[in-house]
Amino acid sequence: MKNMQRVIFFLLAVFLGVNLGINTSYAYTLVFPREKKTVINKDYAFFVGKAQNTEIITINDKKIYVAPNGAFAHTVKLKDGKNRIVVRSNFSTQIYNFYKNPASIKETPALKEFEPKRMVVIKDRTPMRSNPQDSGVNRISHLFEGTNILINGEQGNFYRVYLSKNKTAWIEKKDLKEPDKNEKYTVPTFITMNSETFKNASVHTIEFTGKLPYTIDETDKEIIFKIYNPEYSDNSVYTVNIRKPEKYTYKTILSNGTYVFKVNELPVPADKTLDGMTIVIDPGHGGSEPGAIGCLGDKEKDLNLKIGLELQDRLRLMGANVIMTRECDGYVSLEDRIKIAEQSCPQIYISIHNNSIPDIEMNIRKNRGTGVYYYNENSKELAKIVQKFLTKELSTRNDGVKQRSFKVLRRSEYLSILVEAAYMTNPMDSVLYREDGFAYNAARGIADGILYYLVCD
Ligand SMILES: [Zn+2]
Repeated sequence: MKNMQRVIFFLLAVFLGVNLGINTSYAYTLVFPREKKTVINKDYAFFVGKAQNTEIITINDKKIYVAPNGAFAHTVKLKDGKNRIVVRSNFSTQIYNFYKNPASIKETPALKEFEPKRMVVIKDRTPMRSNPQDSGVNRISHLFEGTNILINGEQGNFYRVYLSKNKTAWIEKKDLKEPDKNEKYTVPTFITMNSETFKNASVHTIEFTGKLPYTIDETDKEIIFKIYNPEYSDNSVYTVNIRKPEKYTYKTILSNGTYVFKVNELPVPADKTLDGMTIVIDPGHGGSEPGAIGCLGDKEKDLNLKIGLELQDRLRLMGANVIMTRECDGYVSLEDRIKIAEQSCPQIYISIHNNSIPDIEMNIRKNRGTGVYYYNENSKELAKIVQKFLTKELSTRNDGVKQRSFKVLRRSEYLSILVEAAYMTNPMDSVLYREDGFAYNAARGIADGILYYLVCD
């Protein structure tokens, strides 16, 4: 009997021990990092996850803030080579071993200059940039297929474009080709130009015998549209100054050698409704693309869609014609999202996202809250107003209004903004975006912001 008791006790102890071993060694759960030993070629390692009730966590002896719902996030600066990071909780000590490859030093390629030479733009919407870099807000204009340009230098992957005596720009080499040898080419010449003003629009036409490059600049009061003909002479610049309406969109079209530049004034909706307005709602990510993952494992794509659907309801109630880029959890490419917008000819495009922290040292009090992004100048005011209404509705930190060159923001024929309602990976924000009313309030903030923008003077 006594032996029997011992055996049972022993079995019980083994059973409990194994169970305790499984349950307690990872009392906290991590979203990042995914492995305990891996190569991370970044400046910082992210520790993002959920702690159990009353669990105290230290990372390399630093006590980590844990939100009331258990969410925590912390960054550790990585040095080149081996990094040993110790995570202690009430239940266990875990060691994480990360290896960081030393960053290779990139040398700036040298500029080579040569005699001006003609090249031809391969496809529509080829970016012409102010510096030889494929990043940042450096696009001067988007050129059309078949545009004749002169290049007089190269640096890295870019050719330097010669526009006039005082102006050069840059285009990626892959976007240009040598002219067709059999082509009968004569230097384009100016034919005529014309401007017409309508009630809510103005149309400006400039005709040449061939396709030439153009730029668009904006001042407070004007849009300045310029066409360059450097092969004809290095002073050959044709300028159209167009007075800007307060709320406007614009579009550039080129067929043969004729540029048509059209500026539209946004309609003022009647009786504080959105009657007659077409608005595209673009819930970011979806399907195989989850977007950012929150401390508690929430996926950005789901929150984006929830806000998008609430916004759809609200804007429809206000009288708008609403088009969604997705209404369920499916993958839609950025190109398709833009195509959907193009086909629906909207006045406004709203992309909905939630933020994550880039590869920087995280400050949980600063890297949180609501931000709104725009690219073209005509969307800046809408971004500011939506930001104001959103932070008020959501009681989030004001993370600012910023100009960013996101693909979905680059069209100027409609206003486009991208909303980052909150930071998925911020523990404080995770408390907010998990509240029941968050998506509804976000939708209310965006919709009220749009209406205020359109009806206010
Ligand atoms: Zn996103």
